[in-house]
Amino acid sequence: MWKDYNHMLGYDMWKDLDPKKITSSVCLNCAACCKHTSRYVETKERYAINKIEYLMAMFDKPREDFHLTSNGTKWEISVTFKCKQLKPDNGCKIYKTRPNTCERFNCFISANIEKRLPENYENIKKYVDRQ
Ligand code: SF4
Ligand code: SF4
Repeated sequence: MWKDYNHMLGYDMWKDLDPKKITSSVCLNCAACCKHTSRYVETKERYAINKIEYLMAMFDKPREDFHLTSNGTKWEISVTFKCKQLKPDNGCKIYKTRPNTCERFNCFISANIEKRLPENYENIKKYVDRQ
């Protein structure tokens, strides 16, 4: 039973990614770990527009930071927050004393544990292949 479930999810086809490919140059290009995207779903466009206005005030962010997409029945707002320590060139202002989580995290190790590609894998692969 458990084996069948794994098969349905494609787990038995998983091939481990090589964590050594996540170098500091890949992370400097990617910087996904230093950003966080929140998503909100509304059922009407006017609700979504009102929500954006509310979120702009709450987070003190300009309108251009909010992206609105729709499939015709739902309106999804997404907004990305950057770590306050992230520099414009994707360096870290507190690199030497950055949190342990930042120092140790490797998205390919997590992917291998979860047997699921990182969310922004297409970008990461591009940076890995470029090395
Ligand atoms: S998602 Fe992976 S490649 Fe991107 S910054 Fe995080 S650890 Fe580095
Ligand atoms: S502290 Fe530095 S490494 Fe950690 S999330 Fe912020 S910018 Fe990224």
